[in-house]
Amino acid sequence: MQRKLSLPIRGLTQRDIHDTFHQGRDGGKLHEATDILAPRGTPIEAVEDGVIQKLFLSKPGGLTVYEFDREGIFCYYYAHLDHYAAGLQEGMPVMRGDVIGYVGTTGNAPPQTPHLHFSIFKLGPEKHWWQGVPIDPYPVLVKLTR
Ligand SMILES: [Zn+2]
Repeated sequence: MQRKLSLPIRGLTQRDIHDTFHQGRDGGKLHEATDILAPRGTPIEAVEDGVIQKLFLSKPGGLTVYEFDREGIFCYYYAHLDHYAAGLQEGMPVMRGDVIGYVGTTGNAPPQTPHLHFSIFKLGPEKHWWQGVPIDPYPVLVKLTR
């Protein structure tokens, strides 16, 4: 992935980022995301310039954000948010580094383990926010910690 990205949480080190893309989850699904441990309330920042495509409350993900890049090639998914940034709305443009929400445990995250569940999807031609080909964020994130 050759993109101009920044970390979704400022000051992360490699230890905070868990290589869990291939782990199994309930219902025979794969995790297909990276979990980033951080204290509850830690600000979460947009990783690239783009648009807030969808704000969605899901049973597993809790409070979630789907951000598209400007061209609609990639979708960045942020889940288990404690709350959204004030004024965050669907269709809103964001810049890399803008705070979009705060780390929490909504959805199926363990209450004692606040974390950001982060994934990257390559969007298809239909640009559906709920569909895309998952890309492992772990190597992308680790590279950004250096
Ligand atoms: Zn996760």
